[in-house]
Amino acid sequence: MDVLQLDVSGRPQAWISAKEAAVIYASDGIAWTLGDPIVILRGGIQRRTGLQSRIELHAIVAVRGAIPSRAWRQEPALSNPKLFARDRRVCAYCGGNFDEDDLTREHIQPTSRGGRDSWMNCITACRGCNGRKGNRTPEEANMSLMYLPYVPSLHEDMILRGRRILADQMEFLLASVPRSSRLHDGSGR
Ligand SMILES: [Zn+2]
Repeated sequence: MDVLQLDVSGRPQAWISAKEAAVIYASDGIAWTLGDPIVILRGGIQRRTGLQSRIELHAIVAVRGAIPSRAWRQEPALSNPKLFARDRRVCAYCGGNFDEDDLTREHIQPTSRGGRDSWMNCITACRGCNGRKGNRTPEEANMSLMYLPYVPSLHEDMILRGRRILADQMEFLLASVPRSSRLHDGSGR
């Protein structure tokens, strides 16, 4: 189960493990939290008080003094799993829904012809459609796109990167995802 780490201003920074979050709690590094506690960790008996130390880990934690994320100003890094998640594993040409193994990163304008390896020039395509299109533009191949590419926002990127996202975390992240995002259709995954 992953904890969503924010900076003090509420910008998402990373997914961290419960263990990593516990270390930040223990060093008094948590500024504020959101969501219900997801797990309660019990430590040793404190000699001074005779009480057992107890840490409630929350689903979302804002970390004190964390260096403000620079990522929010940049384009999130492109990867195949995130690209396929953005496009909901639907081939942009035939509209079929595929397993990740049967999908490819398709360059709308082929890279051999100057197309960039970027969020705006990449779309999800099944192996068949990618092979059929080959080294041509969609116009040349007479294959039109069923949906358009876009650059995910930072909040959206955190959703695309998450493995198992808890309801509290999804609610927080989706609140900042533009209405136009495909992640608003259905469960968000
Ligand atoms: Zn296809």
